[in-house]
Amino acid sequence: MNPHVAVVGGGWAGCAAALTLAEAGVTVTLYEAARTLGGRARAVELEGEALDNGQHILLGAYAQTLALIERLHPTGDALWRLPLALEQPPEFRLACPRLPAPWHLVAGLLGARGLRWQDKLAAARWIDAQLRDRSDRGGLSVAALTRDQPDAVNRLLWHALCVSALNTPPEQASAQVFVNVLRDAFGGRRADSDLVLARRDLGTLLPVPAATRIAGCGGTVRQACRVTALDVSDAAVRVATRTGNAAFSHVVLAVAPQHLAGLLPRTAAFTALAGTMQGYRYQPIATLYLQFDPALRLAQPLYALGNGPAQFAFDRGQSHKQSGLVALVVSTASGLPADWTVQAERQLRGIVDAGPPRWRRRIVEKQATYACVPGLVRPSSRTAHPRVFLAGDYTEGPYPATLESATRSGVQSAAALLESL
Ligand SMILES: Cc1cc2nc3c(=O)[nH]c(=O)nc-3n(C[C@H](O)[C@H](O)[C@H](O)COP(=O)(O)OP(=O)(O)OC[C@H]3O[C@@H](n4cnc5c(N)ncnc54)[C@H](O)[C@@H]3O)c2cc1C
Repeated sequence: MNPHVAVVGGGWAGCAAALTLAEAGVTVTLYEAARTLGGRARAVELEGEALDNGQHILLGAYAQTLALIERLHPTGDALWRLPLALEQPPEFRLACPRLPAPWHLVAGLLGARGLRWQDKLAAARWIDAQLRDRSDRGGLSVAALTRDQPDAVNRLLWHALCVSALNTPPEQASAQVFVNVLRDAFGGRRADSDLVLARRDLGTLLPVPAATRIAGCGGTVRQACRVTALDVSDAAVRVATRTGNAAFSHVVLAVAPQHLAGLLPRTAAFTALAGTMQGYRYQPIATLYLQFDPALRLAQPLYALGNGPAQFAFDRGQSHKQSGLVALVVSTASGLPADWTVQAERQLRGIVDAGPPRWRRRIVEKQATYACVPGLVRPSSRTAHPRVFLAGDYTEGPYPATLESATRSGVQSAAALLESL
């Protein structure tokens, strides 16, 4: 059988896998259950605006994701790189100057507003030690790793970064994965610690142009087409949908971790994998969009927020030309109080004198990411069956559930499949 690969799941991992295979000359059919591509990073239309299911932010260190986006948008205007600055008025400000790494961070820490000198020195020594220490943090949590750091440093820096990067509370979060992110962001080039904002909605940023290119390479993209069952034999893979069956030489399963076990064939080859996936736990992320008068503009495109449920405020007027539109993001959003939107709006009013919003819309993604806990077993892209591959933000890799994990896994899974041909 000539290689003809089914990719199941049109999130960023599935799109990256399908694109890599299609560009390598393999015939690909991409199945996506939803009407729109993008999965947990997709465009949604609310109040006539192209919004995202959740405001996302990238790091300069997300090399695979940034390279893919830049390739799909050769005009170079899809992303906005901001040198690392965390501003949480009136309490805290850290801005890293354009110096070679890690001096930019050292200078940023020492010049930070809102920390005592001994706190700044403790933070600088701690990050230096973490970047140098190559040992495995094993079962350690972020809270345990940072327990000797001053309270203010943990609250304003390490624990805040942990919640936004791992979407897992520091008491439960994997110290090793946290250090991996710190090392990639601060242990390489200065630009790796940039905060990168999209200038397009998440669909237009990657999944939609990827699908166009897949089709241009002769592939097929089937949206609103859920795969209902898989049958895997030594000779082929049969993919069932509501409209019929099709045979393929291989399949890349690029569904979210919570959907994998339900899709795996019920054969001995997949029992261990299904068991692993059933052990995963999940964390929500909530986004509150507030449309103010279009004249409203925050002094910065992005603010850190304290003393309330939201961690970040984004001015979509500056990034997406959606004047007066602010997105407030609440990570690790389990057990939120009933009035969390009121509290989050109050946090915003601590940094800007805004009138009443014209409209408010909230989106709560209940299973936004898996909880990135110590010792989490993350399966390889190769499975026990040579015709079945995995892609997704949960597969083996150094990063937590992020766009970078998703795109890396997609490209790696496609490379493993190509190697097996
Ligand atoms: C609100 C929110 C905010 C986030 N913020 C950030 C951030 O700021 N930075 C960052 O890097 N990451 C962030 N993330 C995480 C990031 O979005 C995910 O890690 C990434 O999108 C996962 O991509 P994926 O392709 O692995 O999985 P998914 O996006 O879950 O893709 C799986 C796809 O499979 C489809 N599917 C499932 N079952 C079937 C089936 N039977 N047949 C066909 N299709 C099927 C689904 O519909 C889905 O489209 C955030 C996530 C959320 C939800």
